[in-house]
Amino acid sequence: MHDTETNAHSLCKACGLCCDGTLFDHARLAPEDDRGVVDAAGIRLRDDRTSFHLPCPAYKDICTIYDDRLRICGEFRCNLLIKYMEGTAGYEAAFEIISRVKALSSKLRKQMADITGQDGQPLRSAYMTVRAIGDDSHRAMLLDYAVLLHHIRKHFAKSRSGA
Ligand code: SF4
Ligand code: SF4
Repeated sequence: MHDTETNAHSLCKACGLCCDGTLFDHARLAPEDDRGVVDAAGIRLRDDRTSFHLPCPAYKDICTIYDDRLRICGEFRCNLLIKYMEGTAGYEAAFEIISRVKALSSKLRKQMADITGQDGQPLRSAYMTVRAIGDDSHRAMLLDYAVLLHHIRKHFAKSRSGA
């Protein structure tokens, strides 16, 4: 594999933000995706049957069905990955951004799950639930979420449903 591709693969392996419910709450299913793989992995389809819910249950700090992953998973590239592959973002810088955003997302996910009592929600859904509670003691967490959103929009933003 070409060095750039190898490094891009490493970045994605270290990241998973497009699988774990941080960036998106769903992704597109392609007609040729193997429904046996989908069912075996516990991937839940949405009502439209043409997309599936995120976080993906096959994501356990890494894609556990990598060789059989769905078509969208092989095709999707966030803006950060595109910039790395085009040479407008360096590997170390991209890795640093991923590490920072992952750490913040992970912290928020734990905090929000403690409050909502629900693990495995897309981060945005958890945020909406916490915000609706309207407790002042959650203010710092909600500010952290705003920071996370800023980083997502700045570095990663790109729709996965159509991408
Ligand atoms: S968000 Fe970007 S860098 Fe992270 S796993 Fe997805 S495509 Fe790769
Ligand atoms: S199948 Fe793998 S790459 Fe695709 S969303 Fe699930 S964990 Fe991510």
